[in-house]
Amino acid sequence: MIHEKSVTPPASNFLRVVIAQDNKSGKYDGRVVTRFPPEPNGYLHYGHAKSIILNFGLAAENHGRCHLRFDDTNPLKEDVEFEDSIADSVRWLGFDWGEHRYHASDYFDALYCFAEWFIEQGLAYVDSQTAEEMRSSRGTLTEPGVSSPDRDRPPAENLDLFRRMKAGEFPDGKYVLRLKIDMASPNLNMRDPAIYRIRHASHHRTGDKWNVYPLYDYTHCVSDALERVTHSICTLEFQDHRPLYDWVIDQLADGGLLERPLPRQYEFARLNLTYVVLSKRRLIELVEKKHVDGWDDPRMPTLVGARRRGFTASGFRLFAERIGVSKSDSWLDFSLLENAMRDDLNDTTERRIAILDPLKLIIDNYPEKQSEICFVPNHPQKPELGQRSVPFSRELWIERDDFMETPDKGYFRLSPQQEVRLRYAYLVKCTHVDKDAEGNLIAVHATYDPDTKSGTAGAAARKVKGNIHWLSTAHARLAEIRLYDRLFAVPFPGAKNPIGHAEEAPHTVETTLPDGGDGDAHPLLEPHARDYLDDLNPASKRVISGYIEQALVDAHPEDRFQFERQGYFVADRFDHRCERPVFNRTVTLKDSWNKR
Ligand code: ATP
Ligand code: MG
Repeated sequence: MIHEKSVTPPASNFLRVVIAQDNKSGKYDGRVVTRFPPEPNGYLHYGHAKSIILNFGLAAENHGRCHLRFDDTNPLKEDVEFEDSIADSVRWLGFDWGEHRYHASDYFDALYCFAEWFIEQGLAYVDSQTAEEMRSSRGTLTEPGVSSPDRDRPPAENLDLFRRMKAGEFPDGKYVLRLKIDMASPNLNMRDPAIYRIRHASHHRTGDKWNVYPLYDYTHCVSDALERVTHSICTLEFQDHRPLYDWVIDQLADGGLLERPLPRQYEFARLNLTYVVLSKRRLIELVEKKHVDGWDDPRMPTLVGARRRGFTASGFRLFAERIGVSKSDSWLDFSLLENAMRDDLNDTTERRIAILDPLKLIIDNYPEKQSEICFVPNHPQKPELGQRSVPFSRELWIERDDFMETPDKGYFRLSPQQEVRLRYAYLVKCTHVDKDAEGNLIAVHATYDPDTKSGTAGAAARKVKGNIHWLSTAHARLAEIRLYDRLFAVPFPGAKNPIGHAEEAPHTVETTLPDGGDGDAHPLLEPHARDYLDDLNPASKRVISGYIEQALVDAHPEDRFQFERQGYFVADRFDHRCERPVFNRTVTLKDSWNKR
């Protein structure tokens, strides 16, 4: 299932242990079936990548399978456009669900029949209380709930009302169907949870067929059981829902409506990363208020954004393997993700030359109109990737900060005092500089030593400390270079203490409701304490034109390279053309954030 290289050896984690035990005991006859259940109401983000890699990865390791199931129980918020993008992103991460692409709405008929069965068993009733009444009679952690006046309505009456709810006789909110479990349960989720509500809404797959829609807790466990899922892995906020998950499918299995062995739910810590926000609500706000250039803006923590930025699927898998899975929430520093991408790209990308802030270097003793070829390896540690030729001539572009007229102490690049190597070419010495009327530097003059060409016998005769890169002005091509950096300037956008260190942050995350949950719930994030938008990094995108070598002009969209001494870059997926090359910076070579 994993197309590219995977990481070996995998470290153990509690999920791997559980699955190994189940395989050993034969609980599921050796079957391992997981699922990834996105709600098709937005684009996937980095957090989802963790869940996808975990679910598909565990299945693959155990020769099992992972289902892609769209959790489309809320007709008001969902869209086919999102489904396509979600499926694309899962595929991009390297996974394949085969024929196992499902929708919760595939089970609307079964869910409805099961609901009637619960009513007939005296285990569900139609409640006419308002949402407000239900909320206030639910009790608290210390006080039991108060039974609804409708709790003892006879099954026949409940059935009649439920059928009329389905037939569309009542307006939205008039009734709900609730399970009859235990109004005094210490677990609030067990206090007669609602499982169906009236919604006169068109659904993107079932159209106008339904006027009642099942709620998440009821739908999820039944869908898992119907698909014969074995290990249902979700984030920690669902831990308190597990007794309900078990109760529903246990009852149905006892009634002969579901097959045993039943799936079991396991919870892991969601991914929380510094310097980004990972909640749909905020991602939507960033797009709608145009703080970014759309969902696939390379700065967005979406998977479409990650792809456009040049992040790799194998980098995400490396990251997921490195961070592992835990049962308690914590915040991870963004540099862990960047480092995984660097390590992956270091291995897989060829090197190229680009000059992003050009300064002219004129070699006065090199013949005018002459040029020659220098051979440049495509990867310093991988000779098997071969080499390419880069033309050298009298006028070159070098990086502006590779020259200093009056060098600082410890500066080893080009200066009037300092001979350097033009990488893969000759040693050069600065002779003088040209300045304009205002005293700005316009060109540096130098002489070269013809006996020092890299790869020739004389090359190593004289040692120099500096080694800088260059491109011939006559051969270099202009490109649009988009320099992306972190979207937020602080680790905890919007927090009372936004720069608090990740390690110092309390390792707990508020319990959030399963639908409408806020991925950024955090004790430091006092609601409205500060606006997270105030923490945007004003320098997160800078567009410049730079010079690139000829070989880069032929790059295809999404080809990735290391620009020597600059960072990793990708040819933009949509805008790059041979006539008008566009490269996005994926990540710099080294982490500069933790040193600021
Ligand atoms: P958000 O909180 O951003 O709105 P969500 O949880 O509502 O996301 P879903 O489409 O319901 O989004 O999520 C699909 C799956 O991805 C769920 O199993 C969910 O637990 C998991 N998931 C969502 N966010 C994260 C995260 N930050 N880390 C790990 N898994 C996540
Ligand atoms: Mg959700």
